[in-house]
Order: sequence, then C-alpha cells, then structure tokens
Amino acid sequence: MKSYDSIIIGGGVIGSTIAHCLAEQGLHVAILEKNEIASGASHAAAGLLGVQAEWDEYDPLYDMARKSRALFPKVAEKIREKTGIDIGYEAKGIYRIAHTEEEWQRIKEIRTWQIAAGEEAVLLSSEEVRKVEPNVSSEIVGAVYYPTDGHVLAPALTKGQALAAAASSAEIFEYTTVLQIVVKDEKVTGVQTTEGFFPCKQVCITTGAWSTPFLKQFNKNYGTYPVKGEVISLKSNRPLLKAPLFLKRFYIAPKRYGKYVIGATMEPHSFQEQVKASSVADILQRAFSILPALQDATWDRTWAGLRPESNEGRPYMEAHPTIQGLFVSTGHYRNGILLSPFVGEYMANKMVGNYVY
Ligand SMILES: Cc1cc2nc3c(=O)[nH]c(=O)nc-3n(C[C@H](O)[C@H](O)[C@H](O)COP(=O)(O)OP(=O)(O)OC[C@H]3O[C@@H](n4cnc5c(N)ncnc54)[C@H](O)[C@@H]3O)c2cc1C
Repeated sequence: MKSYDSIIIGGGVIGSTIAHCLAEQGLHVAILEKNEIASGASHAAAGLLGVQAEWDEYDPLYDMARKSRALFPKVAEKIREKTGIDIGYEAKGIYRIAHTEEEWQRIKEIRTWQIAAGEEAVLLSSEEVRKVEPNVSSEIVGAVYYPTDGHVLAPALTKGQALAAAASSAEIFEYTTVLQIVVKDEKVTGVQTTEGFFPCKQVCITTGAWSTPFLKQFNKNYGTYPVKGEVISLKSNRPLLKAPLFLKRFYIAPKRYGKYVIGATMEPHSFQEQVKASSVADILQRAFSILPALQDATWDRTWAGLRPESNEGRPYMEAHPTIQGLFVSTGHYRNGILLSPFVGEYMANKMVGNYVY
C-alpha cells in the first residue's frame, strides 16, 4: 500500500484547505472523507465572511478572522485558475441592522471598539439604509455598514479547495470512513479505514462535529459537539438586496441567480439534520419583517447542517505534545468558512515545520 506524507481526515472546508496548502508545499497528501467532499457543515453554511458582523466583543480569534478575510481575493483567484471553480466571492459589505432602540445602542457600542481596532463601520439611519437598499423595511431603527465584510458560496469554496489540492497532486478518497488513527512508539503510522489501512507519517483530524472519538486519542478532555442550523433559500426574479443583512445570529444573504439564503437556527447537541416546519415558519416571519418584498419570492429549498463547536469554546489547532505526526484542526463553530484560508496556511506551516523525513 502506497504511503502518504500527510492524511487529512474529513473533506470539509478546513480539511480541504489544509490539504491544498500542504500539497502546494510539496507534501504527498490524501483527503479521506466518509461521504463526499463538502457534505458536512461546509455544505450548509451561508458563506458569510462576517468578521465585524459576527464579533460583538474582541477576542484573539477576531484578529485571525481579519487576516483570513483579507486572504479571500487571492483564494478566489487561485481556485479559479487551478480548477475553473467560481467561489462566488462578493465584497460588497454587510449591514448590521437594528430593529429596536436597544439593538441600536448595542451596535453603536460595537462600532466604537471595532473602529478603535482599525475597522471601517459606517453608521446609517433607517432612511440612509433605504437609499441604498430600498426594499429594507421602514420599521428598522438604523444600521451599521461594514464595507470590508463579504460572502462566498461555501460548497463551491470547499470543492474548489479540494480540487485545487488534487491539481497539486493530492489524492481524494470519498466514501472512506476512518475508523482509527494508528500510533506505534509515540509515532503516527497510518489510519485504519473501511477501505483498508493507509500508511502515513502525519494525520490531521478535521472531522468537524464528529471529532470527539479522535480527539479523545489526542487529549482526553477535548471534544466537539454539533450545533444544528436550519437554513432556507428563496428565489426572486427582481433584485431585492445588494449586500447581506445581519441581525444578531440571523441573516438574509443575496446569492447568485436571484437566490436569497436566510437563516439560521441554533440547536446544540442535535445530530439530526432534518428541517422542522416550525423553524421554516420562524425564519420566514423574521425575514419578512426585515425585507417585506421577500413575500413575493418563490420557494427554492431548505437544508440543515451541524456547526462544530468545541467543549472549550475555541478551535483546536495544534500538534500533539508527544505523539509525532498527530495534528488537529476543528471546532471552528460559526465561522469555519471565514477562518479557513488562515487556518489552512497556519496548519500547513505547522505540519511542514514538524515533518520528520
Ligand atoms: C447553517 C450553518 C450556517 C453557517 N454559516 C456560516 C457562515 O456564514 N460563515 C462561516 O464562516 N461559517 C458558517 N458556518 C460554519 C461553517 O460551516 C463551519 O465552521 C465549517 O464548515 C466547519 O468546517 P469543517 O471542515 O471543520 O467541518 P465539516 O464541513 O463538517 O467537515 C467535516 C467532514 O469530516 C467528515 N468526517 C467525519 N467523520 C469522518 C471519518 N470518521 N472519516 C472520514 N471523514 C469523516 C464529514 O463527513 C465531513 O465532511 C455555518 C454552519 C452552518 C451549519
């Protein structure tokens, strides 16, 4: 059996991006995915690159998110060049909407520290918002416009990263479930899968919400759990919105071909990926209250996905302290799409730096 330098377990956006970065640095890489590339959370994501929209308070991930957002123009270009895939990168900003006086005060406070952190954030009255986005409800109190936030098509980004890795000679094995990481004398020797044993020198665990069994082998306190999110998509023949509207943990994002992606619910500890009728009703009601013109849109589809949250509430991105060749990168929760370019480079550098010939 052929031996690999690095095996990536899980073909979501995190695994595919790390594989691409490693393959570009000349390592012989394989991605092993139990279903298909981009079939987990990375398939479900709305693809918002919402650094300012998502971070209400400063934490160290904020700086990582800013650096990652800045990498997207290059990522989009490289994937298009290597694979022909358009990741749908849009850099038209995001509006953080206030529906109540309380939200208005809150988003003004958030704006103050973000400006101090060096970001752009433009305060707009309800009338000013409707000058640029005339379909937004006159009931809103105001908004902050974040011109440097943006969005992508998450499944296209994920498949693009995997195929770009393949273009740099990585191998992709779908319908290949990893059962166990094999370690001998404190060194990774390979992985046991439903399709046999794959020898390798390094393994990176990027299995999202399904990571706990592998993480226990990494560190007995580590674990991830799913936070289920339900999303709907509507279609409109006339343009309703130029840039996404964001309220705390709710958004309406205009996508290619007249589609509007709206979501998402938050249900911790649910591995069930069906969409509840009551969730659809709630999402539609909230969406109509912000963008009433959506009532004339037509139905496209609905889906759900599992955000990988970590037990510690922070992503695990590290090398095992004693087992040679064992790495982890998971638990990116609500922002794995946004963080992926930075994480890919960060983990690939760590893995190449620790590679033992
Ligand atoms: C509804 C929703 C909306 C979201 N919106 C956004 C957004 O707007 N912006 C943003 O930045 N992020 C968003 N996210 C979060 C983002 O989707 C995740 O953080 C990101 O996709 C995580 O990527 P991942 O590669 O770690 O996990 P996943 O994409 O879940 O990939 C893990 C992969 O591992 C595979 N796997 C598991 N076990 C095994 C095994 N034993 N062997 C082989 N393969 C295995 C799985 O099949 C899966 O494909 C959203 C998530 C959801 C659910």
